[in-house]
Amino acid sequence: MTANKQPEVNIGLVGHVDHGKTTLVQALSGQWTDQHSEEMKRGISIRLGYADATFRQCPDMDEPQRYTVDEECPDGTESEVLRTVSFVDAPGHETLMATMLSGASIMDGAVLVISASEDVPQAQTEEHLMALDIIGIENIVIAQNKVDLVDRDGAEENYNQIKEFVEGTVAEDAPIVPVSAQQDVNLDLLIQTIEEEIPTPERDPEADPELLVARSFDINRPGTEWDGLTGGVLGGTLSKGKLEEGQTLELRPGREVEEGGQTEWRPVEAEVRSLQAGDDTVDEVTPGGLLGVGTGLDPAITKGDALAGRVAGPPGTLPDVHDSFTMDVTLLERIVGSEEGEGEIDEISTGEPLMLTVGTATTVGSVTSARGDECDVKLKRPVCAEPGVKIAINRRVGARWRLIGFGTLQ
Ligand code: GDP
Ligand code: MG
Repeated sequence: MTANKQPEVNIGLVGHVDHGKTTLVQALSGQWTDQHSEEMKRGISIRLGYADATFRQCPDMDEPQRYTVDEECPDGTESEVLRTVSFVDAPGHETLMATMLSGASIMDGAVLVISASEDVPQAQTEEHLMALDIIGIENIVIAQNKVDLVDRDGAEENYNQIKEFVEGTVAEDAPIVPVSAQQDVNLDLLIQTIEEEIPTPERDPEADPELLVARSFDINRPGTEWDGLTGGVLGGTLSKGKLEEGQTLELRPGREVEEGGQTEWRPVEAEVRSLQAGDDTVDEVTPGGLLGVGTGLDPAITKGDALAGRVAGPPGTLPDVHDSFTMDVTLLERIVGSEEGEGEIDEISTGEPLMLTVGTATTVGSVTSARGDECDVKLKRPVCAEPGVKIAINRRVGARWRLIGFGTLQ
């Protein structure tokens, strides 16, 4: 068996709930990303799930039939490894936009899954495409899923609806591949199209490493004695540089500590004890794919995604931590993704609360000064970010936060 390579690219699975994102990830990776028991119960991906898939080819076969995830070709020979990709399976449920956006910040490209058996667009199909637009994810493949449920005319009509829907968006020229994730139809063509449309980005392995932390865990079973405890685990992606076992990392903004009635945010230092890329434990990781970083941290600090949204790197190399900042603002033309219909978007006003997604961090801010195309915000929870970074801006509309535009950190 050929060893699977370390994942080198992150591909988001986005689209409306029940359109088949998790089923598609499973078909391509053999893994079911809805692992959390509560997720199973509710049948939705509450947290971002991720799974790796190794794309392979049988070089003697024609396109697209040569593309596969099987290790064995139909003639009995072993298939050749092309590359391993990490799928970030974003939740489709409408209240989970923030999670989707924090996932989008670690995506190098995306597969937009659209069911052929429903009208286009459904609410989150539209909202997620808008998010890809905002975060600037341009390498997009559209999987027209569930084609087994429609006849030829139905598939064609749905295709035309998709074409009309993406006109004028970042996905305007995205290829549309009809598939059935459940019945394994056309997945070879989908793999070929992903290989062509979502290349592995070029990265500088000599740069200081920067780990974007999307999740954090305590992997110990309840009741483990202290001397049997394994340190806290961080899950995320390396945006640049390389990480090695034994290295010391600083996490910013770290965590909130209370001392003498005062609370303040302090960076956290952690030693890298183990590195997990794909299914393998490795000594060193380079950018691309999602990784698990075993640390010397007390697992009580990392459990339940407590350190999600942090940035980690060698001490002293990370961007500034901001508890307030000024951002340039671009508002959307209208609110999308609402079941109740679309609405006009009013200018941001001084004093209003906003939910901001900055990289993998989500925080609530209050507007201290609104001046049309820029505004100052004071954050409830500080963020570590570089000037120029894109910020998704959400406003409370009725019972939920709705995406109203994006900001750029000054
Ligand atoms: P998600 O919410 O987008 O992750 O959707 P799931 O992957 O959980 O799929 C929702 C439902 O659609 C499940 O019952 C799947 O079995 C079903 N499904 C997914 N893909 C297909 C497909 O290609 N054809 C058919 N007929 N059903 C599918
Ligand atoms: Mg799902």
